[in-house]
Amino acid sequence: MKDTTQFMYSLSSLRNDRWIMDNILERCTLCPRRCGADRLNGKYGFCGAGSEVRIAGASLHMWEEPCISGKEGSGTVFFSNCTLKCVFCQNYDVSTNSLGYNVSVDELSQAFLDLQGKKANNINLVTPTHYVPQIIEAIETAREKGLVIPIVYNTSGYENVETIKMLDGYIDIYMPDLKYYDNKFAAKFSGAADYSDVAMAAIDAMYRQVGKPVFDSRGMMKRGVLIRHLMLPGLLRDSIHIIDYISKTYGNNVYFSLMSQYTPLRHIEGSEALNHKLDFKYYNFAVDRCIENGLENVYVQNEEAASESFIPQFYGNKM
Ligand code: SF4
Repeated sequence: MKDTTQFMYSLSSLRNDRWIMDNILERCTLCPRRCGADRLNGKYGFCGAGSEVRIAGASLHMWEEPCISGKEGSGTVFFSNCTLKCVFCQNYDVSTNSLGYNVSVDELSQAFLDLQGKKANNINLVTPTHYVPQIIEAIETAREKGLVIPIVYNTSGYENVETIKMLDGYIDIYMPDLKYYDNKFAAKFSGAADYSDVAMAAIDAMYRQVGKPVFDSRGMMKRGVLIRHLMLPGLLRDSIHIIDYISKTYGNNVYFSLMSQYTPLRHIEGSEALNHKLDFKYYNFAVDRCIENGLENVYVQNEEAASESFIPQFYGNKM
C-alpha cells in the first residue's frame, strides 16, 4: 500500500486534486492525533468525523471581536466534532455528540455564498480542522462563483503544521486559540499532552503564511493572525505565561483577544475551580500584564461577556 500521507504533503501544489483529497481521508492524519482512521470507508476518527462534512449551523454572528464581526456580522459556519476533548467545552453537543447535519461540498460552498449575500464581513470557519480537504474544495468552488470576502480559520490551535501549509492561499485570517502554556493542563483538561508545543508551532506557521495584520478602511481585518486565550479559573499563572510568550514572540505583529467568559455548563470532575466562573480580579490582573508588556493590539472584555447568551444556537441531530 502506498504511503499516501507522505505523498500528500510533498505534493502540496496538487492539493486540490480529487485523488489526493480522497486519500487524505482514507488514512487521516489531518490533526496531531494522527489516528489514521479510514474515514473514506465508513470509519470515524478520534474527532468523530467521517467522510461527510457535518455542520451545526451557518449564520451571521455578531459577537466575535469587532474587527471580525463589524456591524454586519461574521459569516460563521460551525463544524460538528472536534479534535480536542476539553472537559469544560462550551459547545459539548456539537463537539462531542456530533450535533449537526451533513452537507455536501457543493452545499457548503453555497452556504459561503449565501452568507456573503447577507453582507457577512467574512466566512468564519469554526473548528474546521477535520474537514480541511472538503473546505478547500468548497472555497475553490465558491470563489469560482464570486466569493470575495476574507476566509477566517477559527481553530483550537491544535493543528499540524502540514495541514496549515495546505491552507496557504485559501485562508486570509487565522484565529487560533492558545489555551495552555503548560502541557500538564492540556493533558488534564483537553486530553492533549502535546497541545502547547503543537499549538505554538502551528501559530508560527500561520504567522509566516499571512504576516502582519492588514485592515480595510472600515477597520475590518483582511489578513493576519488573531490569537485568543480564554482564561480559566485557577490557571492565572498559566495565562500570564501565555501573555508573556505572545509579547516576546510576536509583540504587536498579531492581535490578541483575552477572553473572560468561561462558563461552567455542567459539573466538572477533577478541578473544583473549573466549576465556577472566572473571578474578574484575576482577569484584570492579566489585562495589566498585557499593558506592562507593551501589547497594544489587545481585545479585552467586561464582566457582562460571561453569559450563556453568547453561546450560539445550534441545529441538527446527535449521532
Ligand atoms: S482529524 Fe480526526 S480522523 Fe483525522 S487524525 Fe485528527 S482525530 Fe483522526
